[in-house]
Amino acid sequence: MTEANANTPLPADAPDPVVGIDLGTTNSLVAIADARGPRVLHPDSERPILPSVVRYSADGARVEAVGDEARDHAVEHPERTVSSVKRLMGRALRDARADAPYLSYTLVEGDHNTARVRIGERVISPQEVSAEILRALKARAAGALGHDVRRAVVTVPAYFDDAQRQATRDAGRLAGLDVVRIVNEPTAAALAYGVGLAAKEPQTIAVYDLGGGTFDISILRVTPVAPGAAEPAFFEVLATAGDTRLGGDDADRMIIDLVREELSARFGVDADFPPATRQALHRFAEGAKVRLSTDDAAPLRIDIGEGRVYERTLGRTEFEAMITPLIERTLSRCAQALRDAKVAPGDIDRVVMVGGSTRIPLVRERVGAFFGVEPYTALDPDLVVALGASVQGAILSGVGADALLLDVIPLSLGVETVGGGVAKLIVRNQTVPARAVEMFSTSVDGQTSIKLHVLQGEREMVEDCRSLGVFHLSGLPPMPAGVPQVEVEFLVDANGVLSVSAHERRSGKRAALQIVPNHGLSRDEVDRMEAEAYANAREDMSRHRVADLVANAALDIKWITERLDAVRDDLDPDYAADLRAKADALRAQVEAARADWRSVEPDDLHRAKHDLDEASLRLHEVSIARSLRGD
Ligand code: ADP
Ligand code: MG
Repeated sequence: MTEANANTPLPADAPDPVVGIDLGTTNSLVAIADARGPRVLHPDSERPILPSVVRYSADGARVEAVGDEARDHAVEHPERTVSSVKRLMGRALRDARADAPYLSYTLVEGDHNTARVRIGERVISPQEVSAEILRALKARAAGALGHDVRRAVVTVPAYFDDAQRQATRDAGRLAGLDVVRIVNEPTAAALAYGVGLAAKEPQTIAVYDLGGGTFDISILRVTPVAPGAAEPAFFEVLATAGDTRLGGDDADRMIIDLVREELSARFGVDADFPPATRQALHRFAEGAKVRLSTDDAAPLRIDIGEGRVYERTLGRTEFEAMITPLIERTLSRCAQALRDAKVAPGDIDRVVMVGGSTRIPLVRERVGAFFGVEPYTALDPDLVVALGASVQGAILSGVGADALLLDVIPLSLGVETVGGGVAKLIVRNQTVPARAVEMFSTSVDGQTSIKLHVLQGEREMVEDCRSLGVFHLSGLPPMPAGVPQVEVEFLVDANGVLSVSAHERRSGKRAALQIVPNHGLSRDEVDRMEAEAYANAREDMSRHRVADLVANAALDIKWITERLDAVRDDLDPDYAADLRAKADALRAQVEAARADWRSVEPDDLHRAKHDLDEASLRLHEVSIARSLRGD
């Protein structure tokens, strides 16, 4: 968390910047493009990327930690640490069910079948959790720039449908951010790449983005503008495809499954582990995976006590065989995007790699072979989306180059017709903004109202598409079937957000649908949450930071002291004594801060806490081993 500045008003003569935000499933970042060029904003003492993880207090009433702190201690507080919440944004609980076994927190159903998170007594919407991440990013940006930040461009996966985009906007609003534009992640990446592009000829570019939870492939055309012109290039998205449930997390799961199977085969340990063990296994698995991007082998070792040690080496070749089907799936989506764009693999001039999982050598190799070009990896795959978003922000705020950006509609939009079919008004990959009009009529004599069911998807039948909403055009004068002329208009704005209106020509009756997504928040809910957010925003940030640190440190001390007693027999006495001394030192600081928060230096407190956390690693391992043993 960043201290100070967050509430400092913008000086009257300062430009009102538009920052770029990559709100990722796994990690999030905020960047700005100004006179100093595009760069990520973060406190000097912290990493540029902020893990998209939020920890709540046990009753769910208060946010305890966001980012690294929340991620690093997810093991101790699995039921109230929310990660991968992007997978739940704008989705129904039934659609999110498949993810539930991999989430350590409890999912419940909210209004309109929405997926929500339950922490203690509280039911929290994914939008509220995302707003916490956005709020932390906003504070980071404000801290780095020295003034408040109000406007942002936020990126979403290309495959996000209308409800998911709307949920993302609502999250921004809850965080006190005006989301001036929603941009597809691969489009932002291409923009980062395209700026400064010295090409003379138009180029066709593929953006391959394999993150933690999502995969996106986009085919773009970049047209350089005449020499000497202010604009560097003209971007056009030809096609997008992807999979919202495919990414590096899947590779982690494969390793976890392997370990679980072998643990139960060798030792007969129950494969249904408690949450803390699941989280720890996840960290092990991810660590091994990351190591295999640079090393030929990664050791796996879990001491499950009573002289039983699970130990084996995971070789790169074995790992590559495991993940080959994942890579194949991404390549089939690439083939789909090429078909949609009517481009042959050989026509791709450049392939841009985005997302942490593109660091896996086999991914680079297979993608390079598929497109027949060496993938472009000069841009940091973790930062490229946020940097591109910041460039788009600069363009929108009028300080950047005037590149034009044409996004496409990721999924077709239509209405239900008689018999459960879907008439598509706007087909996918059309550029935004887009407008389409179609005439419909009644099927029964004397019908005085018409139901319009708005759908999104590629399939032909209603049940295979995503329902966006239903509305009725009522009060029509009775007429014979087929006589009324109902003009239905679909309008998709530059953000990809849809509005629908209908108009019966003979009677002049009109109706409009504000798409309140079936899986989103109601306007009232957003208004209420926004009011709550304002009420909290006045809190002094520095005090807030000390309070957070004290609360977190107290939890650490409590946990460590308890565990030290519980697993004393398994610990080296010197180690235990040292850890206890560190805990006591931190406790003294915590007590001083509780007496007067101004009496402690937040950085000192942070350091003492960090030291204790580092030192407690061994204790964690021993505790995990104990819990595997079931005592
Ligand atoms: P998202 O866009 O979903 O937020 P990121 O682009 O930040 O995700 O990518 C996160 C994923 O990248 C995680 O699954 C992480 O394990 C993986 N990752 C990060 N670094 C490496 C690496 N060196 N090798 C393999 N995978 C990595
Ligand atoms: Mg990403």
